[in-house]
Amino acid sequence: MKATIAVIGSHSALQILKGAKQEGLRTLLMCLRGRESLYGRFGLADRTVSIESVESILEEDVQSLLEDEGAIFIPHGTLISGARLEDLERRFRPKIFGNRFIFKWEYDRELKDRLLSEAGIRTPKRLSSYSEIDGPVIVKLPGAEGGRGYFIAKSPRDFESKIRQLSEKGLIKKGEEEKVFLQEYIIGVPVYPHYFRSVIEDRLELMGCDRRYETSIDSIGRICAKDQLELGITPTFRVIGNIPLVLRESLLVDIFEEGEKFVSAAGRLVPPGMIGPFCLEMICDEEGKLHTFEFSGRIVAGTNLFVNGSPYSDLLFDDPMSMGRRIAREIKTAAEQGMLESVTT
Ligand code: AMP
Repeated sequence: MKATIAVIGSHSALQILKGAKQEGLRTLLMCLRGRESLYGRFGLADRTVSIESVESILEEDVQSLLEDEGAIFIPHGTLISGARLEDLERRFRPKIFGNRFIFKWEYDRELKDRLLSEAGIRTPKRLSSYSEIDGPVIVKLPGAEGGRGYFIAKSPRDFESKIRQLSEKGLIKKGEEEKVFLQEYIIGVPVYPHYFRSVIEDRLELMGCDRRYETSIDSIGRICAKDQLELGITPTFRVIGNIPLVLRESLLVDIFEEGEKFVSAAGRLVPPGMIGPFCLEMICDEEGKLHTFEFSGRIVAGTNLFVNGSPYSDLLFDDPMSMGRRIAREIKTAAEQGMLESVTT
């Protein structure tokens, strides 16, 4: 029997559905109500079920439906930000592709820091109070989605004045200023490698790479220095889109090394370890050193750039291989070899 792939309609769902079809699998779309016509336009779902919100997947009837369909659920970014992660770990009965226990490590900044540092991955220094600021730091809001309200501060006074400015503009909500996360600001360029840890092939694959397009930080160069100073601009980091990236080949040595360290630490700290897609969010400094400030333990939206494959996936596969298709292929091969239990939790 063909495996069925289930996904919530948002984030990277189109790519996941398309990849499943390319691999000859059945597709079940859990469509957020109101978006049916969007997904209908692409005709990639064999069955569509409307749900009210991301949390609806925890409801008894939705879980039973997924079980009746024998569906394998593919997690993506919307799931991490929207569902109750403890409940997803304990109460969600359908099979999830990947490691369901890694999501809370991605969501919780303390756990995230712990996993990265225990992996031995180079990370930016963390500050415990704004009084410690004595060089550029990036100020991150609690649970901020997509860099909203982040800013750079270079001294305690600078921090106080920018917090005031952004609060007045409504970019920071009341109470958030006390819960900010302070991290050394690495001067360099962002690099987001898309990894796939294949349990079936027992290897780590690089499937693509992107950088994000962030407002307003990426627009600063469009304004001359004199005007920047006069306007007193405080750039922020809200993600708007993604731009493809091909790296200097020599950098790939470190990219793989950091990825392997992550896989090995996840194996120790979050059994059964990394399965399928993940991303390390890095800044590459002027010496070419990689500093990882975040990770995502599931498919990232930057992979949407490569629906038809990327320069890296093309080197590994003869077929155009998106991350969505790579997921489907892993599931298909696992099913053929009786190894579904090894790629799901
Ligand atoms: P995040 O929400 O942590 O993924 O960060 C949003 C954006 O802020 C990133 O895409 C980077 O452009 C920037 N950023 C985050 N942390 C750092 C850092 N430590 N140094 C430099 N830039 C950073």
